[in-house]
Amino acid sequence: MPSTPPSSASTPSTARPGFSRRGFVIAGAGGLAGAALAAGAARAQGGAQGSAQDTTGATPAVPTQPSARPMPMLERPLPEPRGKRLGWALVGLGKFTLGEILPAFGDCRLSAPVALVSGSPDKARDIGARYGIRALYGYQDFDRIRDDPAIDVVYVILPNAMHAEYAIRALRAGKHVFCEKPMAVSVEECERMIRAAEDAGRRLGVAYRAHFEPHNVRALEMLRAGEIGTLRRFESMHGRPLDPSEPADQWRAKRALAGGGSLYDIGIYALNAARMFTGEEPTEVSASIHTPPGDPRFAEVEDLVSFRLRFPSGVIADCSSSYSIQEQKNYQLYGTKGALRLDPATDYHRNTLMLKAEKREVQIQAEPASLQFSREIDGFSEAVASGREHRTPGEDGLRDVRLMQAIYRSAREGRPVKA
Ligand code: NDP
Repeated sequence: MPSTPPSSASTPSTARPGFSRRGFVIAGAGGLAGAALAAGAARAQGGAQGSAQDTTGATPAVPTQPSARPMPMLERPLPEPRGKRLGWALVGLGKFTLGEILPAFGDCRLSAPVALVSGSPDKARDIGARYGIRALYGYQDFDRIRDDPAIDVVYVILPNAMHAEYAIRALRAGKHVFCEKPMAVSVEECERMIRAAEDAGRRLGVAYRAHFEPHNVRALEMLRAGEIGTLRRFESMHGRPLDPSEPADQWRAKRALAGGGSLYDIGIYALNAARMFTGEEPTEVSASIHTPPGDPRFAEVEDLVSFRLRFPSGVIADCSSSYSIQEQKNYQLYGTKGALRLDPATDYHRNTLMLKAEKREVQIQAEPASLQFSREIDGFSEAVASGREHRTPGEDGLRDVRLMQAIYRSAREGRPVKA
């Protein structure tokens, strides 16, 4: 799989009216540009990569008031002017798009949202007005994006079973595609998406944000630098209660839309991270699944999945996902000289990295986790614009879907299977 290069310690940051890390900001509120500059400066100060300290490691406070002295930011690269950034169309205005992705464009240097695609015209109009996005499409007229030269990249943020269709339609319309995880619900769909990208001569990336999240990136750098010796074991637990009262969880409970249960939704973080940290592909998979009988949430999708991956180097990864436990999103890496613990490892905003070595446990400081979204978006724009390799291409998404299918097969057959 592609390697994850070290993070930049000083990725520039800014925001435009209409964008906020924590939700909507109505355009016209005074001094937002100044506030964004101050926020960027605060992030720069918080970016002491690589230092270990016994502090709480809390995310540095981001000033909410406009800074009276924005000049220091001029020492850092400014974002490209809007016309020079790649234009992104966001498909599906759900919880993740509105809560994390749209606001993250405020921190992007190379990418700007220029179009929205939604089945709900009123919502699209409202969100478009707030963010200054005028190009609005529905699912029926989606193919009209072909005639919209402002759109370079289409970001598919729909229920899993819709990823393949909209990714392929976008590729056929001549657009590059960034697709949410899991890439699709079947191996065959992933292969069709990759073929469509090849046929169109366009890029296809999968939104594995951990590859851009500062604590994950720092842990990978430390592992590669030998700070815990040779990696021997990886462990991860990802869980949360599936909540049928939440609209975003309603399709997740339906196999036809979700493709699978906790494994497809959150176990995939552990699976992809095990591959990212080992830099290897597993050779054997063994798994067991337990779904509590009688719980209506699990009429169609599985609850608890425990799976073991064996890697050629001898590393063993033991991972679990569940839809019935309270929130967990952690991993641990055990090496011959020490251990790294990320807990949480895959939160949107607050991750923590601990190094345990020589009978000492220290917290490793990294830049704010929130930057992961703008970094993954700009990372794809950068790959598109430069033609360089992307950290998480479609082939990476295909491997995970193939492995998840192997995990299900192993659980069904009650024996280890070749990966
Ligand atoms: P939501 O249900 O909140 O949003 C999905 C959106 O898709 C809806 O709001 C709707 O938007 C559109 N949609 C179109 N058809 C349907 C349909 N039949 N049923 C439901 N929605 C439909 O889900 P999320 O935002 O939580 O998840 C969307 C995708 O993002 C998933 O693939 C998920 O795995 C991924 N995700 C990734 C995360 C990450 O950390 N990388 C975190 C969370 C989600 P509209 O009304 O505009 O048409």
